[in-house]
Amino acid sequence: MEQPGLGVPRTADLGNGVHAILDMETLEGVHAANVGIIATGRAQVFVNSGQTEAQGRYVWDYAQTKAPGREMSYLVLTHHHLDHCYAASYFDDRHTLIYAHKSFGGCMADMRSHLDATDYQGMIEAFLKIDPETCRKHVGNVHPVSPHRHIGEEVSLAANGEEILIQHLPGHTPCDLVVYHPKSKVLFAGDAINERAGPVTMFGEVRDWKKWIAGLEKIKRLEIDRIVPGHGEVCGPEIIDEHIEELEKRVAAAA
Ligand SMILES: [Zn+2]
Repeated sequence: MEQPGLGVPRTADLGNGVHAILDMETLEGVHAANVGIIATGRAQVFVNSGQTEAQGRYVWDYAQTKAPGREMSYLVLTHHHLDHCYAASYFDDRHTLIYAHKSFGGCMADMRSHLDATDYQGMIEAFLKIDPETCRKHVGNVHPVSPHRHIGEEVSLAANGEEILIQHLPGHTPCDLVVYHPKSKVLFAGDAINERAGPVTMFGEVRDWKKWIAGLEKIKRLEIDRIVPGHGEVCGPEIIDEHIEELEKRVAAAA
């Protein structure tokens, strides 16, 4: 690992101000989630924060290099899992407006009691199964943040006149969101799409997977060229049908 809590990130320039950051590593061999960046004329929109201080800094600095001097920054947290949102305070410290689904806080509280932790540091140590010293070295001085804005079913964000569509797509967890940028036809799917592992269904049950299928059917109506998944490689829209097929199999097997 080149730098504790960062790994050796790869970046993908998807055009129209859109970038993806892949392959960040929190611990040796422990990948964090992908992060998306949309730079508009005057704003930067981040999709997920990374998990560590080093990742938050890398993402932030990368965006400043590609699109310097933006007046506004937004961060959308696709769900409460700590590989996606743990570094949110790095962005909060830089006056970023943070969005998440209205059930984000409840999901986070459930996970905290599930991990038997009293605070965020206890959560991340339990989540990664690390001691406080390793946590200090790899995760650094960041923590999740309560969202400043709650999203229900759908919100269209006008980032300086450029549309960004945020949709609720539950199933992986109750609070999953996806972010669509019509100008580039890129969908940031969070863990609604997982290119590396396929749909991760362990946090829900059949009725959640049915909602997941319905949500995927809905986003198929969008004109999508490329998808930045929560984990794995940037891919094409055909992965949506592959996920639907896999989820239908699991629904059938559980019946
Ligand atoms: Zn997740």
